[in-house]
Amino acid sequence: MSSSGDLVCSRCEQPVQEGVAFCLHCGTPFSDALRCMEHPHEPAAGVCVACRRPCCRACGKHARDAFLCTRHASYESYEGMARVFGSTDVLQAEHTSCVLEQAGLHPFVFSRARYPRPDVGSFFSFPQVYERTIPEQKVLVPFAEIQEAERVLGELGILNGGNERRA
Ligand SMILES: [Zn+2]
Ligand SMILES: [Zn+2]
Ligand SMILES: [Zn+2]
Repeated sequence: MSSSGDLVCSRCEQPVQEGVAFCLHCGTPFSDALRCMEHPHEPAAGVCVACRRPCCRACGKHARDAFLCTRHASYESYEGMARVFGSTDVLQAEHTSCVLEQAGLHPFVFSRARYPRPDVGSFFSFPQVYERTIPEQKVLVPFAEIQEAERVLGELGILNGGNERRA
């Protein structure tokens, strides 16, 4: 196989480097030799774009544009990005976003207040639900940056729960 670098992924149509076993953008495997990390007898259905683990059909799935392992597929996601931090404190959320940006990542602060959830409406008269609907400022990163974002936040001790609660 020789090529002038015109290879593109058949699924996401992003450029693909020659010789790679899977698409870095969407996790589509290019080689039948790629096996599930948990089940070595099963061919990989995809590679999680967050943790780069090859997964069989039971261990992961295509979520929107990319393949994710079961664990990363369970992350809250908005507009194709994953929530790594949330706070009702706007400044805290913005600080966290800044920290991630300085680490070379691409965070985005998302406030649910601007996008009310339709399922909340019918319960709005209950005060305890009111409390729970204080808009959380969510710090989102692209799925491929989850691990790095969690490492950065973990080092600074500002990783809060939701996805992975640490006691
Ligand atoms: Zn792809
Ligand atoms: Zn994963
Ligand atoms: Zn598996």
